Amino acid sequence: MKADLILTGGKVVTMDPAGTVAEAVAVRRNLVERVGSAESVLELAGPHTRVIDLGGRTVVPGFIDSHSHMISTGARRRLYVDLSEEAGVHSIADIVKRLRERAEGTPRGEWVLGYQEDDSKLEEGRHPTRWELDQASTQHPILVSTVGGHFYMANTRAFQDAGITKETPDPVGGRFDRDPETGELTGGIHEKALDLVCPNLPQPTPRQYLEGAREILQECAQMGITCVYDTVGAPELRAALELRNQGALPIRVRVDINIELFPHLRELGIKRGLGDDWLRICGLKFFFDGAISARTAAVTEEYLNKPGFYGVMATTPELARETLEAAYSQGYRVSCHANGDAAISLYLDIMEELQSQYPQSDPRNRAIHCTVVNPHLVQRIKELQILPTIFGPYPYYHGDKLLPAFGEERLERMFAARSFLDAGIPVAAHSDHPCAPNPPLMGIHALVNRLTRGGKPIGQSQRITVLEAIRLYTVNAAYQQFDENKLGSIEPGKLADMVVLDGDILSTPAKEILEIPVDMTIVDGRIVYERKKDPPRGPPRV
Ligand SMILES: [Zn+2]
Repeated sequence: MKADLILTGGKVVTMDPAGTVAEAVAVRRNLVERVGSAESVLELAGPHTRVIDLGGRTVVPGFIDSHSHMISTGARRRLYVDLSEEAGVHSIADIVKRLRERAEGTPRGEWVLGYQEDDSKLEEGRHPTRWELDQASTQHPILVSTVGGHFYMANTRAFQDAGITKETPDPVGGRFDRDPETGELTGGIHEKALDLVCPNLPQPTPRQYLEGAREILQECAQMGITCVYDTVGAPELRAALELRNQGALPIRVRVDINIELFPHLRELGIKRGLGDDWLRICGLKFFFDGAISARTAAVTEEYLNKPGFYGVMATTPELARETLEAAYSQGYRVSCHANGDAAISLYLDIMEELQSQYPQSDPRNRAIHCTVVNPHLVQRIKELQILPTIFGPYPYYHGDKLLPAFGEERLERMFAARSFLDAGIPVAAHSDHPCAPNPPLMGIHALVNRLTRGGKPIGQSQRITVLEAIRLYTVNAAYQQFDENKLGSIEPGKLADMVVLDGDILSTPAKEILEIPVDMTIVDGRIVYERKKDPPRGPPRV
């Protein structure tokens, strides 16, 4: 049988166990048929075969973003005002202006919502206060969420509508920012305190979820992502399934389902494995602590620029134990957000107990982010066979604001790709989009160079090679989602998910990895994205 598609005349970085770099690859239907020399692969060319001359370009396995919030982001950006630097916001005045414009077209009393705010990218270098947000409107409740989530700001009207005053105590797992002298609320809202301010936040419509999901997954394809491992609640899962049933998913989707839905899943008997090669349920998502970019991760050593502050836990040990036991004892596999070493340590303690109490043959429980570690924690992660997936783009994209908070020594133990690989742990990487931009090449660039956007070295001892970084986004990510026999490498019999990069990523100077254009993305043997030649060259600079 002849091939449907052949890519030849370049470098095919297969990521197979032998580390083969081939000249050509043939695809038949949705599978890789042959990999090898141009001569051997071209034997499969027939009259109906599309043969693409790579002209020296590189083919790599399709990138897998192993933790993100793509679908909810695609939907939410239809509802929220974008306050990111990329959207042209550079100051608090810009934020106020954007929110005021939205308020003017919004009926009085209805929410005005902003997202992707990033204090480190504002001229003032801080978040707006509630009084500054009042300048946008006092007739509308206003809520602004930050790029990393976990921290929010509201205007006076939002607190009033919710009946929250300076007398309101902080809830478990959350906190309101207050004036240190008067105790007056200053606008900042941490973690679960958000539920008090807006228990009924407006949600995108099903149509917005569907359109948002389709749009953002297509954008992922343009970046070379062929599979996202997304975090979903009910509306996101419904949208993904609808697209799946329409045959309209541009790329593959794996999901961790929010643990709040566990009672429903248990009732239905739905657990890991339900789905197909396009869309599959992989685990349950649970939260332990705050965010790295918001500098609220629960750590054992204080934040250097906030003496006495050790971050925020989003749960209690008892609640975490009880929730995870309920799920794990029923055979569920868990993916837990744990950023700081205090949170990771608690997670490991709980999993040590649960894994011995309720043994599963191949549990592959994940530690999402698993950012701040030390040699002892790495050893425990190895022993418990917990799978860490780390932020790819952060050392570059958020690096400059992390240095003063975490300090140079601790940054040598953060996003610890080198430590995990050296310990033989199959670590993967992710964007956590919208918490960072989603191009995998930005993640690879960041993990290889460990330089901030401002050019400062950040934890250089954790640098990894280009091939290792590709491994985090392919082979290891596939393993974490139980797809190691189908995805992650370019080998005969595997699903034909591949990316053509313009240039040779293995010999491009490391500092230029970010600039490498994605020329073509192939999913299931089909070309789902092809870059138009001519301008613009390279991904948008961020
Ligand atoms: Zn996340």
